[in-house]
Amino acid sequence: MDLAAPEALAPTRFAAQIRATPTSVALVAPDVTLTYAQLHERIDAMASRLLAEGVDDTTCVGLALDRTSHLVTALWACLRLGVPYVPLDPSYPRGRLDHMVRDAGVGLLVADDVGLASLDAWTGLPVLDPDGPERSSWSPPLEGRPASSRSGVRAGDLAYVIYTSGSTGPPKGVQVDQGNLAHFLAAMGAAVRPAPSGAGVFLASTTLSFDPSVVELVWSLTTGFTVVLSPSLAGPAAHRASLGTLIERHGVTHAQLTPSRARVLLADDDERRALGRLDQLFVGGEVLTPGLAADLLAAGVGTVTNLYGPTETTVWAFAHHVTGDPAAVRAAGSVPVGGPLPGYTHRIVDAEGASVADGRVGELWIGGAGVTRGYRNRPAHDAGPFVDDASLGGAYRTGDLTRAEPGGVVFVGRTDDQVKVDGYRIELGEVERGLAGSPGTAQVVVAARGAPHARLVAYVVPAGDAPRDRDAMLRSLREHGAASLPGYMLPTALVRVDAFELTPSGKVDRARLPDPDVATDVLADVLADAGSHADPPTGRAPDRRPRTGDLDEVRATLAVWWADLLGRHRVRTEEDFFDLGGDSTLAVRLLARVQRSWGIRLGLATLVAAPTPQLLAEVVVRAAGAGGGGAVATPAGASCLVPFAGPAAPVWGDTHGAADRNGRGRRPLVVVHGSGGNVLNLTAMARHLGEMRPFVGVQARGVDGVSEPDPSIEAMTERYIDELVAYQPDGPYLLGGYSGGGVVAIEMARRLQLRGAYVPVVLLFDSYPPGQDQPGLPGKLGNVVRSVRHHGVPAVARSLAVILRRRMSGEVVADARALGYGDVTELGLATVDGHFNRLVARHQPVPVDVRTVLFRAEIIQASLPPVREWRRLLTRPPEVRTVPGHHYSMFDPAHAGALAAAVEDVLASADPD
Ligand code: AMP
Repeated sequence: MDLAAPEALAPTRFAAQIRATPTSVALVAPDVTLTYAQLHERIDAMASRLLAEGVDDTTCVGLALDRTSHLVTALWACLRLGVPYVPLDPSYPRGRLDHMVRDAGVGLLVADDVGLASLDAWTGLPVLDPDGPERSSWSPPLEGRPASSRSGVRAGDLAYVIYTSGSTGPPKGVQVDQGNLAHFLAAMGAAVRPAPSGAGVFLASTTLSFDPSVVELVWSLTTGFTVVLSPSLAGPAAHRASLGTLIERHGVTHAQLTPSRARVLLADDDERRALGRLDQLFVGGEVLTPGLAADLLAAGVGTVTNLYGPTETTVWAFAHHVTGDPAAVRAAGSVPVGGPLPGYTHRIVDAEGASVADGRVGELWIGGAGVTRGYRNRPAHDAGPFVDDASLGGAYRTGDLTRAEPGGVVFVGRTDDQVKVDGYRIELGEVERGLAGSPGTAQVVVAARGAPHARLVAYVVPAGDAPRDRDAMLRSLREHGAASLPGYMLPTALVRVDAFELTPSGKVDRARLPDPDVATDVLADVLADAGSHADPPTGRAPDRRPRTGDLDEVRATLAVWWADLLGRHRVRTEEDFFDLGGDSTLAVRLLARVQRSWGIRLGLATLVAAPTPQLLAEVVVRAAGAGGGGAVATPAGASCLVPFAGPAAPVWGDTHGAADRNGRGRRPLVVVHGSGGNVLNLTAMARHLGEMRPFVGVQARGVDGVSEPDPSIEAMTERYIDELVAYQPDGPYLLGGYSGGGVVAIEMARRLQLRGAYVPVVLLFDSYPPGQDQPGLPGKLGNVVRSVRHHGVPAVARSLAVILRRRMSGEVVADARALGYGDVTELGLATVDGHFNRLVARHQPVPVDVRTVLFRAEIIQASLPPVREWRRLLTRPPEVRTVPGHHYSMFDPAHAGALAAAVEDVLASADPD
């Protein structure tokens, strides 16, 4: 079949691409990179599983998935089988998702853990876990459903149902069939300028709930692009990356953004630089101003393409390329949406449906094969904006006021109350219905105010029980609305009015609503605009740069800003900006406040790496100390290395030079955490040792309760080595490990040796070899009894009390926070504890030839296996030294001095420099 023909359905186009470029990279997802052939295999497996679950063309498949490769495989499996998918964004309120599931008639959910967490209301529906076991007994042929099942995918089969805001009722489902989709895939080619290098890389960053995602995940894969799937910012921290980072890292050539998002990225130096590397940027979904188009061109984007189209006519219907001199573009009055893509037709009409002359404003009607079949579950007689037009045939009345100019069609406004805020399509009527009945309000009217950065403003006639505080009133309104409306539909400012002025027909006169910026009763905009120069609600005078001692104050200020931007009452210093609903727009506003208040310019990538007030405060203080703007040292929470302060503490990253009297310049001892993952327990020893040499703890990922713990000892070891080498580029390396961390230290030594580095010694602090069964209760009691015999009841009782208290009181967490050792949470510690023990037990070591010294705690250590058990890890047995205390108290202040002396004794001989 001719693939240029609009009849070639999506599965046919994809099959041809797989055959043409099976070994090219198709998908770079946060979890995996796949070639076209590998992606095909996964789609096959997913399709088989869907069939095994009994899906057919009468079933809608709900996709409630995080942004991983499963999103792409599940979507394509549905397209291949000719069964429609329905995006169910896990971040939407349950009531809204519930409506979508019922209205679409979803018969099966494909949901991962993230999706399931928001979907447990529908326990009645079968759920397919994309991580579950594969059933690959049957594979559909490349081009779609087999003849035995039916006659293959047909143009009339639904491809997807996407829900948009409903003006007179709940959200409405736009039904797009395979024929509409095929037509769009053929048309889209006309809007694309191929990458000069030939190898196009498309950044997919649009949520599946909006149909531009079809360009990124469907069109691109039918034309040989490599698709880079942006991770969700609320997903695992290890996956997070700013769009700019992804563009740079993967050599992205094409991307697609709403103007709002593009504006946000331009405000950030790093993101702007990355955008400037794009060959083509598609901008669409709302008005593209000449200023923004010019700024994008000035940043270096090759071609900016303004795309226009309602969901009801399948993704994009019009396109206009903007190139050339930014100054000339800026001087133009508007950027047209251009002309229709191939296969789309249009008319601009007056109120009677008669075409208007060029240059006159009228409503845009769109015809052609992209016009969809209407909304889900709407009775046949209620076609709404879908009309039969004598010249266009089946057409869609867009509600957009436009004008034909010589350069193309220009968008000038709306005929109704539909607005776009941050690129989101919103019917004000739906917002008002969602807010109605909120406590303390008699009547609410909502309007979008401000250009080009529109925001939703609630105009409220208060009821008798209204909170006096306007801030409280807005919060209560937002809380009420959040039950049915997604975050982007909640107002961000509030104006109290006594009564609304009415039009002669008795409707609220929206044109006469006061502007929030001049009204006297305005709640200060809770989401201060990044461009505004108003002072943030708290924080110090702009000329006061924070110093090291200001950490607490910076942290507290950031927590207030967090709460303010995210519409929260309070935010704890360890709460994650993105988990709380922060997006890149809010992130830029936050960073703008940091810059305005402290003169420190941080990139989005910094916030991604340091997403809590606690972590960002460390970055701010460090950046201020380093002189401000530019490069910022890694925050402690994002790095595994924790250099302990002390006389011999190195300047961060500077461990070299001759040793002075205080040990400054000596090689550091680097000690890996035990099973709790944190290095807090090493403090006292570090302090003693710090008189003689630098001391660096290695803290596990995951102790913050946010970052993903490493999946294996191997992965963990590689990470630690990479960080260590960046910190101390050359050997010899002095390593140690506490408890299970000894195993990690030995594996680090082996890998460093493979890299050609010299490791004179590895210190094992009460470590045990892996694969040993931990003693059960009788074994532990036996140890206690033996210890009592040796050390007497008081000593052992004291030891046990310490162990229990530290384990159960949360003391570790409190200490960690007080001492500022990164962001340690109870959940994080608990998770890492069990996880790390499992990793150590599972570890399959390769024996290594290195000198080791085992410091065995003298109390209750009988549970440790005999020294010979080390054979599996070491070619020579460890030298054993007994030190005071028990497993959990050997580093306590009472014993730390003796331990440090014993340690330095060994190190001085191993590393005489
Ligand atoms: P949606 O169905 O979410 O794609 O929203 C479609 C509506 O967004 C259109 O009817 C227009 O009002 C608006 N829109 C989409 N693209 C543009 C654009 N390039 N310029 C101006 N408005 C646009």
